[in-house]
Amino acid sequence: MLKGKVAVVTGGSRGIGRAVCIELAKQGADVAFLYAGNEAAAEETLALLSAYDVKSAAYRCDVSDTAQVRETFRSLTEAFQTVDILVNNAGINKDKLAMTMREEEFEQVIDINLSGAFKCAKQVIPLMVKKRSGKIINISSVAGLIGNAGQSNYAAAKAGLIGLTKTLAKELAARNITCNAVAPGFVETDMTAALPLNREAVEKSIPLHRFAKAEEVAKLVGFLASDGADYITGEVIRIDGGIAI
Ligand code: NAP
Repeated sequence: MLKGKVAVVTGGSRGIGRAVCIELAKQGADVAFLYAGNEAAAEETLALLSAYDVKSAAYRCDVSDTAQVRETFRSLTEAFQTVDILVNNAGINKDKLAMTMREEEFEQVIDINLSGAFKCAKQVIPLMVKKRSGKIINISSVAGLIGNAGQSNYAAAKAGLIGLTKTLAKELAARNITCNAVAPGFVETDMTAALPLNREAVEKSIPLHRFAKAEEVAKLVGFLASDGADYITGEVIRIDGGIAI
């Protein structure tokens, strides 16, 4: 379905980003992904992508660093010729109550999760405008919709991503470029494995009584990247087992 398309996925070395890379490759897209520094994980994603008949490459790039983002997109567009799909997935959390959170901890999460998405979108928009087509998908979170104690930085970044999504959707619709957001709840990844949670209690609080698999989120992203979603823009789709109903 995505044969001939080029997708860029940020944070593709692990978790949701890796599952998105695989889903898009399964659909036939060539995949370039960015990662922060985990070489072994990036190699593993590349190995998984090699099972598909698509072109793939990994780029080490901190999405919060403007110069690195510019240089990475310059070299990836040289290698892949264009970008049709951008998935802004790279993200971190640094959870603490606002009372004890340091200013730098707030800023770092905003810089990576929100400003990083803007910086990457800025690199692909001119290419997409020229082609009069493109799909941008931002990975937000239910924390951006309903807040979460201990995540003022993360929730603010994820809510900001929703504002960015709706604004890009309005600015770019005339050029046939869509921009949508996905808002997962709890997903089985390294990020949630590191949270000090009472897993059983959390699962009880989720109407579907389980965490999502990264592949389930990836399928939704795959749909938003496909022709089937051509008339959807500015939307935020929760994939959260009902936790934010
Ligand atoms: P994860 O397993 O911790 O993986 C994070 C990914 O982001 C890795 O590929 C990491 O690269 C990359 N990354 C981190 N900082 C980066 C930076 N500065 N520049 C470029 N890449 C960077 O996370 P995940 O759980 O898959 O989450 C993926 C996205 O979904 C995040 O935006 C997260 O906020 C969102 N989300 C997750 C959940 C959940 O329950 N897991 C729920 C809602 C939303 P390295 O491997 O090199 O470190």
